[in-house]
Amino acid sequence: MAGLGVWLAFIGVCFLNVSALLQRLEHPVKADGSLSLVVIGDWGRKGTYNQSEVSAQMGRVGAKLNIDFVISTGDNFYDDGLSGVDDPAFELSFSKIYTAKSLQKQWYSVLGNHDYRGDVEAQLNTILQKIDPRWICQRSFIVDTEIAEFFFVDTTPFVDKYFLKPKDHKYDWTGVLPRDKYLSKLLKDLEIALKDSTAKWKIVVGHHPVRSIGHHGDTQELIRHLLPILEANDVDMYINGHDHCLEHISSTSSQIQFLTSGGGSKAWKGDIDKNRKDGAKFYYDGQGFMSMEIEESNAKVVYYDIFGKVLHVVNLSKGLRSVYAT
Ligand SMILES: [Zn+2]
Repeated sequence: MAGLGVWLAFIGVCFLNVSALLQRLEHPVKADGSLSLVVIGDWGRKGTYNQSEVSAQMGRVGAKLNIDFVISTGDNFYDDGLSGVDDPAFELSFSKIYTAKSLQKQWYSVLGNHDYRGDVEAQLNTILQKIDPRWICQRSFIVDTEIAEFFFVDTTPFVDKYFLKPKDHKYDWTGVLPRDKYLSKLLKDLEIALKDSTAKWKIVVGHHPVRSIGHHGDTQELIRHLLPILEANDVDMYINGHDHCLEHISSTSSQIQFLTSGGGSKAWKGDIDKNRKDGAKFYYDGQGFMSMEIEESNAKVVYYDIFGKVLHVVNLSKGLRSVYAT
């Protein structure tokens, strides 16, 4: 029996170690216990392709909602990420673009596939915070607020084609190889963190869509490996970029809402799979962004276009779950 005790203690230590790999950052909520934020994806083009115009509307909405932070769903710097920590694109595409007072909050970012085409570790380097203290980018991590927990997941390494058919692109897989080990550890880590979570709202953020009727469509690798974990652990929302559009898809098999915010700069007009209707609630093929307002029992997601016009609203309630779209 003593042997079993030692063995269980050993397993406990292992779990602690695995769990500790997902760094946990804490972010306070407002005095009334609520939280608000804006979500942007696929943006860094030195202000071109209407990036600056989207930024101006984000600033306006950010002020109106008095946002607590910003989430970036990745593809932060086009076309090939940052070349190093001294790449001027960091300031030209980020610091000098998102200048509104309301956006001078923490930015929590994941990496997209384009970010992996540069010096991938540059964006993760905390030295960037000396240039702009708003910037926090990690591969996979947790932002813990009192009412909601955000689980940021590094989705690029899941996608086979970047490894098997990279075409002319060169990806920097530093820190990812061996790939199988990296992915299984990440999934295990995420599963443990989701299971342990007591947050009212569980929100997962990645670059690639699980579900999309846009240009790239569903990401089969995420449907196979990530979705079962999200469904088994009562995740409320999965938020992504990658497809340069705004969309909302309801799961047909669980409560998960799939929310795409990838309209930060260059959008893909008309790039939609019109035959894919399953669960699709809203699709907009122009530039824009998303806001979220989260309270104990209710959450509201709003999509905006480049003029700040409201395109779609998602209302979620805890307990009696319902989704209204206007
Ligand atoms: Zn992408």
